[in-house]
Amino acid sequence: MTYTTMKDLRPFIGFEPEKEAALERLLCEYPMRIPDYYLKLIDFSDPDDPIRRMCIPSLFETDRDGSFDTSGEQSNTKLPGMQHKYRETVMILSTNQCAMYCRHCFRKRLVGLGSEEVAEHLGEIADYVRNDPEISNVLISGGDSLMNPTSLIRRYLELFTAIDHIDFIRFGSRIPVVLPERITGDPELLSVFAAYASKKHICVVCQFNHPRELTPEAVKSLDELRMRGVTLRNQTVLLRGVNDDPEVMAELLHRLIAAGVAPYYIFQCRPVTGVKNQFQVSLADGVRIVESAKALQNGFGKSLKYCMSHVTGKIELLGELNGELVMKYHEAKNRADLGRTFSVKLEPGQSWLPDDFHL
Ligand code: SF4
Repeated sequence: MTYTTMKDLRPFIGFEPEKEAALERLLCEYPMRIPDYYLKLIDFSDPDDPIRRMCIPSLFETDRDGSFDTSGEQSNTKLPGMQHKYRETVMILSTNQCAMYCRHCFRKRLVGLGSEEVAEHLGEIADYVRNDPEISNVLISGGDSLMNPTSLIRRYLELFTAIDHIDFIRFGSRIPVVLPERITGDPELLSVFAAYASKKHICVVCQFNHPRELTPEAVKSLDELRMRGVTLRNQTVLLRGVNDDPEVMAELLHRLIAAGVAPYYIFQCRPVTGVKNQFQVSLADGVRIVESAKALQNGFGKSLKYCMSHVTGKIELLGELNGELVMKYHEAKNRADLGRTFSVKLEPGQSWLPDDFHL
């Protein structure tokens, strides 16, 4: 069963009728989809349950503060459904569908809604990649890339593994987190991955945000991918009320490593409309939480980067020095900024840099 209406949730949550009606209206703007597997992870006796916060709609989402395109995705779009922001990487919006619509999603503008931003002409995208030898990798994103039919996943792999200058192909997916059966129950998908992982490096980039998401079923799906030669990485979003606690974050990192998943990035939650005021933590708090969690890790766990996907680039948040936050361009839209380190005096509670920020 998949839960898509507020009425579906009545056996679990007793909303006041007016609130239920308001939330039902909200779903026209931001759809809800929760697989039964994920709903069962919620502790309904706890109104602040972190799993619940990630999947059950809230009226906080009606807050209009923020933006729908916080990292300049429109301006990086070179072909329909294809973005090229950093020299070496092409990113494809392969679908607008997800197994679950996360309430904190930074692509809230499109998931489960309009599909006009989604890639349609795969041949043209492959030509673009083929004709630019500086592109070394392709990120197949969405929505959730593993929601695509297995036949289409095969097509992506067929096209991009055949390009010599492509070193690796990434699939961005929360399927191992919210619907692991999509992996464990599809032997064809697993054999497709096994076949192409022997040709090129294939990586699934997951988004586990809380240790309770690492269930035996989720770990099994990760094992199945790993056994087919797929490497696994994780990008966690730092979320208020979910993982903004050093011990929770530390446990998540430990358990990811034990499951064979390299923690890769912790991302500052973007100032997205309907997300920002519900989920963002301040940059000062973020640095403190991430550094405290890293202090509890071995070298592997400490290798992750805490970053902000800003319109100007991917900015690593390094730490506080003399009352300022030290940052570094890990990736930069303007190549001259790449690797540049700088510091900013933060306003109290500041959680992002202005869009017009420049060095
Ligand atoms: S799976 Fe990813 S793209 Fe889909 S709603 Fe969740 S965060 Fe957004």
